[in-house]
Amino acid sequence: MSFENLKLIEPLLKALKTEGYTTPTPIQAQAIPIILQRQDLLGCAQTGTGKTAAFALPILHLLHQDRIAHKEQKTIKALILTPTRELAIQIAESFTAYGKHTGLKNLVIFGGVSQNPQVDALRRGVDILIATPGRLLDLMNQRYVHLEHIKMLVLDEADRMLDMGFVHDVKKIISKVPAKRQTLFFSATMPKEIQQLADTILTNPEKVEV
Ligand code: AMP
Repeated sequence: MSFENLKLIEPLLKALKTEGYTTPTPIQAQAIPIILQRQDLLGCAQTGTGKTAAFALPILHLLHQDRIAHKEQKTIKALILTPTRELAIQIAESFTAYGKHTGLKNLVIFGGVSQNPQVDALRRGVDILIATPGRLLDLMNQRYVHLEHIKMLVLDEADRMLDMGFVHDVKKIISKVPAKRQTLFFSATMPKEIQQLADTILTNPEKVEV
């Protein structure tokens, strides 16, 4: 199995060569074909399994294809929610590295720092937004972020987001994202509350466990 077998577009394959990735990890091999078919996904996977690339690569692939087909504006088309600033930064770095030949722009926002540079960057336009729930909700309430053009939504480390008390914020954010979207839900554990949350936000998901 190679990334070429997964039929990813050339700008991504080129970036993966630079990164030195030759073989997809098990979560990547299983999840990427499902996501490329625009299906919802419920992924049970820990950090360290390559889960970031498992969602970042197909998101970049699909947004790049859509851009060629529709010549879209720089509105937010994919939103990744993650519990901590550190994870958010890591995810953004991955999107930047894998997407460097795609022309797609990402932005990371998180709390605990001034919001002004984040607001300026939002005004310049982004395709992919990576955010922690609290700061995103703040910026939404101030009308600096608009989610009505989102086509792809990722919940990363859903169990940790719940443990950290973000469930209310997450639900509020999701209520502002179009219902007609593709949703990818990742959690290291699947207790009952997580399964219930997944049931309310996913539509006929394919399940992947590593
Ligand atoms: P993650 O689980 O997304 O935090 O990724 C864990 C680490 O594995 C990161 O440092 C990635 O850069 C690396 N990684 C992800 N996918 C691959 C791959 N297919 N080949 C080699 N390294 C990878």
